[in-house]
Amino acid sequence: MTDCIFCKIIAGEIPSVKVYEDNDILAFFDISQVTKGHTLVIPKHHHENVFELPEGVAATLFAAVPKIATALQTTFEPTGLNILNNNGESAGQSVFHYHLHLLPRYEETGLYGSLWNEAQATPDLEGLKKYALKVAHSLS
Ligand code: 5GP
Ligand code: ZN
Repeated sequence: MTDCIFCKIIAGEIPSVKVYEDNDILAFFDISQVTKGHTLVIPKHHHENVFELPEGVAATLFAAVPKIATALQTTFEPTGLNILNNNGESAGQSVFHYHLHLLPRYEETGLYGSLWNEAQATPDLEGLKKYALKVAHSLS
C-alpha cells in the first residue's frame, strides 16, 4: 500500500533498525521504545488487521515469534515480555498494517498499562453461554 508507513519501511523508503528479516516477515525496533528493546513484527504483505489476516500469513508470522522473543531475551535480559496486537482505533491501533508488539519488561511501572481495569465481579454465565453458541456457529 503506497501510503502505509510499514510498507515503506519494508521497501526501504523509510529507515528502520531491523532485527530479523526473511521472505515473509520483518522485525524492527519500534521508534517509540516504550520499553527497552520494544520490537514490531510484521508480515511483508499489507493486511490491515487481524480480521483481514489470512491464516497462512498468521501462521508464518507467529512461527517466527518465539525465536525473535528469545533473541530479545538474550540481548536485553528482561524479566518478562508482553506480546500485544491492537486492531482498530478503539483498540489503540495507529498504523493500519498488521503488527505484533514485543515488549520486554523490567519490573518497571508506568511505561505500559492495560486498557482494562478489573474483571467483572459477577459474570453473566448464562449470557456468556449464549454468546459461546453464536461464536461456535460463526466458526463452523
Ligand atoms: P499501534 O499503535 O498501531 O499498535 O502501533 C504502531 C507503532 O508503530 C507505534 O508503537 C509507533 O511507535 C510505531 N511507529 C510508527 N511509525 C514508525 C516508524 O516510522 N518507525 C518505527 N520503527 N516505528 C514506528
Ligand atoms: Zn502496509
